[in-house]
Amino acid sequence: MGSRWTQTRPVRRPPRPPSPEFSSFVARTNTCGELRSSHLGQEVTLFGWIQYRRQNTFLVLRDFHGLIQLVIPQDESAASVKKILCEAPVESVVRVSGTVISRPPGQENPKMPTGEIEIKVKTAELLNSCKKLPFEIKDFVKKTEALRLQYRYLDLRSFQMQYNLRLRSQMVMKMREYLCNLHGFVDIETPTLFKKTPGGAKEFVVPSREPGKFYSLPQSPQQFKQLLMVGGLDRYFQVARCYRDEGSRPDRQPEFTQIDIEMSFVDQTGIQSLIEGLLQYSWPRDKDPVVVPFPSMTFAEALATYGTDKPDTRFGMKIVDISDVFRNTEVRFLQDVLSKPKGTVKAIRIPEGAKYLKRKDIESIRKVAADHFNQEVLPVFLKASRHWNSPVAEFILEKQSLELIRLMELQEEDVILLTAGEHRKACSLLGKLRLECADLLEARGVVLRDPALFSFLWVVDFPLFLPKEENPGELESAHHPFTAPHPSDIQLLYTEPEKVRSQHYDLVLNGSEIGGGSIRIHDAELQRYILATLLKEDVKLLSHLLQALDYGAPPHGGIALGLDRLICLVTGAPSIRDVIAFPKSFRGYDLMSNAPDSIPPEELKPYHIRVSWPADSEAEKSSLDHPHHPES
Ligand code: ASP
Repeated sequence: MGSRWTQTRPVRRPPRPPSPEFSSFVARTNTCGELRSSHLGQEVTLFGWIQYRRQNTFLVLRDFHGLIQLVIPQDESAASVKKILCEAPVESVVRVSGTVISRPPGQENPKMPTGEIEIKVKTAELLNSCKKLPFEIKDFVKKTEALRLQYRYLDLRSFQMQYNLRLRSQMVMKMREYLCNLHGFVDIETPTLFKKTPGGAKEFVVPSREPGKFYSLPQSPQQFKQLLMVGGLDRYFQVARCYRDEGSRPDRQPEFTQIDIEMSFVDQTGIQSLIEGLLQYSWPRDKDPVVVPFPSMTFAEALATYGTDKPDTRFGMKIVDISDVFRNTEVRFLQDVLSKPKGTVKAIRIPEGAKYLKRKDIESIRKVAADHFNQEVLPVFLKASRHWNSPVAEFILEKQSLELIRLMELQEEDVILLTAGEHRKACSLLGKLRLECADLLEARGVVLRDPALFSFLWVVDFPLFLPKEENPGELESAHHPFTAPHPSDIQLLYTEPEKVRSQHYDLVLNGSEIGGGSIRIHDAELQRYILATLLKEDVKLLSHLLQALDYGAPPHGGIALGLDRLICLVTGAPSIRDVIAFPKSFRGYDLMSNAPDSIPPEELKPYHIRVSWPADSEAEKSSLDHPHHPES
């Protein structure tokens, strides 16, 4: 890979697009938010929602673009206009026409982009009156997420949601432009009614009219995009909807969107450059430009220094192996661990931890370690006098403490969290504690992760297989079963498959995985061997793909970017639900329409399906008939 990391490519930004015409095809002359002093004297017609009214004199009208102040006419001849504007409830929709005038001196509002002007209203029409709302449409009014989701169409009126969804649309537009217009990709839709595929995430099942036969909703268009390569469509992309029935997770949705890409005759470097260019080109102009190429780290290094395959590289606090310091220790639990063949001692340094971490923080850190990792963590404080303060302080020899200070670059008031155990486990624990401590420090006002910083990282050289969680004696694909092995490790496939590295790469942004892909296997024999012999999958389910590989499949590879997560990070939204127009709740419900919902038995008949209610759970059935969602 060598030189690509040293060369810097010039920042390539797309030309600024012409601003769109927001008032074409409709009777409005302008949007509320676009008016400025340059429009003084113009006769305008505006459509919008009533944001608020002051003393029956002023009315503030809102559309997606912003707010504008209207002056309600007070003279007798305009009584009907005054009546409309004074009586219409907040959030009613109106059309107004009038003249753009300056606000009287001293009455300008510098906080409003339209604050130098106002509209002297001449005519008004109430287009639709608004009933009492479940919540106010003001970004600063706090409301629960359940209420927002139940009335999503109202929540979408907020400036924040408008910003998020419009920015998403603009970025996708730029991505299309980059892929199709600049690099010859073809936008192809693939089916969402498909069949169950081996491995990977749980799929949603869709009944069919054939007895006992079901479709599945695809977890991703993986097989189709590979088949498109066999079909000679050698640069494919799609804004693809994917479905995974994985239950509730805070940063996941049962349906989500990927920017899905596949190319023929490409290698890992080619895909990486393509994605770097794509992000650079589509990056919003109001953020710092993306700097390419992105740094790269092997999976092994990520695990050893950050305890995870998706390191947040915006801050340090890296994991340090301090096993050698403690080879001759008196501390019992370190001794025990180090006497084992794979035993290690590791630590992270929390800068000025003594100043910021309270006793109860340290206790909760130790509890996380014990509850989730079944591991012990020792906090060690380096006090001003260079004395240790720790349950094991008296057992740390002078030589060891000097060595620790050197290795970990310790300063006074720092705290180290030390653990001992098998490499992977110790790293995972410290990786988790690193993030917990970062949250704690930030809650106390320390700035560790600059909110304006976007820290991209490629993670490469993953293992091809991992031991199955539920049965560590068996293997499962680290990415998916179509991922090609690293060319230098092919022979190991037949001897020590667990040691094979793959041509899988992940893209990480600020500690979140925002994309992943691989160079694929294009040799049918190798694919069959991996599926049948190593993964013990039923190859009949994939016979179409195996056959296709035999008919002159080109070498190919690809990647998918998680669009929801990417936009969530770009906008700084607290949840991916804030960048999806109609998301499911945390538990997978649509709180607005109450999906999923029951279906009468006669409508299930054509599908040969009968619901068998869990025995003696009539109560459960009636709760499903009258859903009461835990979130609402
Ligand atoms: N289909 C893969 C996924 O959804 C991405 C890829 O390998 O291109 O994770």
